[in-house]
Amino acid sequence: MAKPVLLTVDDDAEVLRAVERDLRREYGNRFRVLRANSGESALDALRQLKLRNDPVALLLVDQRMPRMSGVEFIERANAIYPEAKRALLTAYADTEAAIGAINKARVDYYLMKPWDPPEENFYPVLNDLLDDWLASFRPPFEGIRVLGHRWSPQALEIKSFLAGNHVPYQWLDVETNDEAGRMLEGSPGRRLPLVVFPDGEQLEAPDASQMARKIGLRTRADQQFYDLIIVGGGPAGLAAAVYGASEGLRTVMVERQAPGGQAGTSSRIENYLGFPSGLSGADLARRAVTQARRFGVETLAAEAVGLRCQDSYRFVQLADGSELSGHVILIASGVAWRKLDVPGADRLAGAGVYYGAAMTEAISCRDEDVFVVGGANSAGQAAMHLSKYARQVTMLARAPDLAATMSRYLIDQIAAMPNITVRCRSNVVEAHGETHLEAISVADAETRETLPTKSLFIFIGAQPHTDWLEGKLERDEHGFILSGPDLLRDGRKPRGWTIERDPFLLETSVPGVFVAGDVRRGSVKRVASSVGEGAIAVQFMHQYLSKL
Ligand SMILES: Cc1cc2nc3c(=O)[nH]c(=O)nc-3n(C[C@H](O)[C@H](O)[C@H](O)COP(=O)(O)OP(=O)(O)OC[C@H]3O[C@@H](n4cnc5c(N)ncnc54)[C@H](O)[C@@H]3O)c2cc1C
Repeated sequence: MAKPVLLTVDDDAEVLRAVERDLRREYGNRFRVLRANSGESALDALRQLKLRNDPVALLLVDQRMPRMSGVEFIERANAIYPEAKRALLTAYADTEAAIGAINKARVDYYLMKPWDPPEENFYPVLNDLLDDWLASFRPPFEGIRVLGHRWSPQALEIKSFLAGNHVPYQWLDVETNDEAGRMLEGSPGRRLPLVVFPDGEQLEAPDASQMARKIGLRTRADQQFYDLIIVGGGPAGLAAAVYGASEGLRTVMVERQAPGGQAGTSSRIENYLGFPSGLSGADLARRAVTQARRFGVETLAAEAVGLRCQDSYRFVQLADGSELSGHVILIASGVAWRKLDVPGADRLAGAGVYYGAAMTEAISCRDEDVFVVGGANSAGQAAMHLSKYARQVTMLARAPDLAATMSRYLIDQIAAMPNITVRCRSNVVEAHGETHLEAISVADAETRETLPTKSLFIFIGAQPHTDWLEGKLERDEHGFILSGPDLLRDGRKPRGWTIERDPFLLETSVPGVFVAGDVRRGSVKRVASSVGEGAIAVQFMHQYLSKL
């Protein structure tokens, strides 16, 4: 494969040479550095590269150029190489324009001239951008292939598992893909979905633990005993892992699907502090996992199914029958989408009725008409993401308008998309189809109509992942876990509470078992608040451990 290209554009020959020199010095061994002295010639170069199918990783462009400014060039280049990272080179006087461009042209970064010394002012930013690009870059395909039916719920699970764990895969629909037909020829009895690995091994309809073992995720604990056991690798669990391990706690994190949790399924998180042009959930998860690993956190691909206490020891039971033991547990198991309770929805789940699967399934909806149910930010993000593939996206929301439930920036983005329609005061009342979704019935106060569609994406409120804790921890009537002051009724401590003091903030009805994030009663359902709670919980764990 040809080396990916770094393209720099500047009309000032001296600056252009200097940028090229600095790029070659640092990246020349891994990337091909090309230069152009105008927006027009750079666009020509990009068109040529596209014809040859050469990857382009970075566009580094001077803002102030005659005829075509840097922002104008980037806007046009987006149409040719939308996945390339985009950075503007600006003079101090152009800072305003550069900040404006972050939103307008989705510029990833702006760099001030002069950038000397490059080790401080140039390479760190570009390293970050290129790492991001490499993380989502798909070279000509040589990896895992998944063969199955588009409407298979198991195929959806496998795809979500691989995507969540950042393992590249190629999806081959056996009904439409000739290559899949050729691969299955001669072995008609194969159970689908079939996963074919680069080493030739094939797994028929594997479950998450088989997949985890095969792709090299750890499923068994390394140590006999931990200071901190975390259940759930979403933002709350990851934050606790980073803070706990960095503060000296031997930490293990158990995650049954993929680190990142719900946040990992978000196409674009725009409100997380420190990322002015937003970042994808997958990117956030990848960064957090790397950070946790750096501090020595052990991550297990496993499902927690039980909790047990004995004296001051705490145990988490795993689905494979093994058990983890430690001093302190954090429950950060988050929430799942509430199920749509209408005829047909249950039967067609995973076969056209999807709960939060917009990232994995979007590509299958190319040129189709799809529906999104829900009026909060998650539904809005999904609609925006789907609109890149589907012909028409219709959002169905119960409320009279979106203003009360969705952020303004998202409402504006949706309004600007010609292929998204919002229907308020509307409910899905039935899902139709035999083997997969074929139509939905939608009703408002006066009318009921049946609309053909193959995909319905549902984002309607949350159900906590706490069934496995029934009878162990106090929960509210919806299953959310009670903590801290919520546990005191008329000043009385919770039933079975064994020690003198009151529960700490974020401590559950069992001393030494803490809770953080969306699964906690009264939590603010946001990435930043989950991260905050995960970090705060660790402080109370230190207090708990100091008295053991
Ligand atoms: C599509 C979408 C878009 C969103 N966009 C934004 C946004 O832009 N900004 C924002 O602030 N918030 C956003 N949110 C909300 C945000 O993602 C959540 O508030 C946040 O992820 C909650 O973090 P958490 O760690 O508490 O739980 P979760 O993210 O739900 O993570 C819980 C993890 O625990 C694992 N788990 C559950 N049970 C078990 C078990 N028994 N054993 C092992 N593992 C288990 C799950 O697999 C999951 O990975 C969005 C949510 C969604 C779904």
